[in-house]
Amino acid sequence: MLQKSSPFMKQANLINGEWVQADSGATLDVINPANGQKIGTVPKSGAAETRRAIEAADAAFKLWRKTSVLERHKLLRKLHDAIMDNQQSLAELLTMEQGKSLFEAKGEVGASAAYVLWFAEEGRRTYGDVVPSPWADRRIMVTKEPVGVIAAITPWNFPSSMLARKIAPALAAGCTAVVKPAAQTPYSGLAWGALCEEVGFPKGAVNIVTGAASEIGDEICSNPLVRKITFTGSTEVGKILIQKSAATVKKVSMELGGNAPFIVFDDADIDRAVQGAMLAKYRNSGQTCVCTNRFFVQAKVYDSFVEKLAAATLKLKIGSGMDEGTEQGPLIDEKAVEKVEELIEDARAKGGKIITGGKRHALGGSFYEPTVISEATPDMRFMKEEIFGPVAPVFRFETEEEVVQLANDTEFGLACYFYTGNLGRAYRVMEGLKYGMVGINEGLITTPEAPFGGVKESGLGKEGGHQGIEDYLDTKYVCIGGLGL
Ligand code: NAP
Repeated sequence: MLQKSSPFMKQANLINGEWVQADSGATLDVINPANGQKIGTVPKSGAAETRRAIEAADAAFKLWRKTSVLERHKLLRKLHDAIMDNQQSLAELLTMEQGKSLFEAKGEVGASAAYVLWFAEEGRRTYGDVVPSPWADRRIMVTKEPVGVIAAITPWNFPSSMLARKIAPALAAGCTAVVKPAAQTPYSGLAWGALCEEVGFPKGAVNIVTGAASEIGDEICSNPLVRKITFTGSTEVGKILIQKSAATVKKVSMELGGNAPFIVFDDADIDRAVQGAMLAKYRNSGQTCVCTNRFFVQAKVYDSFVEKLAAATLKLKIGSGMDEGTEQGPLIDEKAVEKVEELIEDARAKGGKIITGGKRHALGGSFYEPTVISEATPDMRFMKEEIFGPVAPVFRFETEEEVVQLANDTEFGLACYFYTGNLGRAYRVMEGLKYGMVGINEGLITTPEAPFGGVKESGLGKEGGHQGIEDYLDTKYVCIGGLGL
């Protein structure tokens, strides 16, 4: 069994270089969503363990911040290599706890390594400024310094790569970290501890605590040693963390919920749009923040798009992520299936037509049939709510102005996609959409080189790109006077 052989499956917290249990000895079970079986346990920790992890990170910071950028760069490159050397084993662990296909899990682990490499390089480019001085005898310098201890809280849908985007820039910038992975997928988070240990990061540089979310979160928010919180998860929890961390005025980065529109104009290449739609909708069984939530298709091509999307959807191979050829695994849990069922029922009652899917999969458990719904209308719940499942509602529209207005009619602003063959329209629509990321004639756009992040209630700050390290740095203005010049 994998759980016996994987060197990365740690069932303990990592605090100050020691693998330890919760003070109370209490544990949480971790379940494989593909078969409902228990994989193992992790500590059910709370405030006290979190406080010790923060103190360890603070002690480590005093030394880590003094290391040279080159030294940090070299260690991060080693971390990249260690991830790639163990890609298969890390991917198996991820599939086992999260459910996605092994193919996608390997992709995610590869993406984690790519983020580490990117930030290893960006760490060497955290330039400051020398500013022309308004005074003859003074000079002005602007430098960048690590913020200090950072705390990272991550969700279950990308349990490896969401941490890569936080741990890598933090370490590259000279910060140290306290990490709280999601309760449903803690092993891919704890694996970061094992990897950092293996490649030689000093003890306390990365600490990982699992357990009671609000107790851990409250300690993180209230502890003055934590200078930055970086969170990926729901908008609801993000707002709580922003509010609670206000008392100690921390920097915050928030990667929150989405409600991505995917617009197909009648001048688009429809086959290309369908290909992009399959990636933008069904990756990770529709459980990604950048997954299409609403398809908007112009009237002239509506029927042909729905027909082609349904045909492609029907071909998806559903099964355990561990099985060869599986394209779509189970949803994370029963609650996720119930939410999908509610949204479909709501659409059905309001005139939506189920073209394919629309029910639980014969495999049982939390497997759900990929679903296409036509005749979607703005009064249906998925106009406003994140589906987080394999359901594609298709709305019909007539004009460019109408669709831009519909696409923007949400409090979210993470990713959006549109397909057109008209260059003028491409610019007009791109400039009209209030989103942090836009895919034009592309359905899969995430890459370490580009700034990932949302606007409006989808969040604050960017992960990836040269921007992705900025949030881990403080800017210091230095005025040097009395130069006698
Ligand atoms: P969630 O319920 O907000 O949980 C995310 C993390 O926050 C988990 O580790 C969770 O711990 C923790 N948490 C929950 N309540 C907390 C509290 N009071 N204090 C501190 N931490 C707390 O989100 P999810 O259901 O796991 O993930 C899905 C959401 O994430 C979706 O909305 C999706 O759009 C969003 N997401 C956004 C991005 C992005 O980059 N913008 C990427 C991926 C996902 P437990 O697991 O222990 O409850």
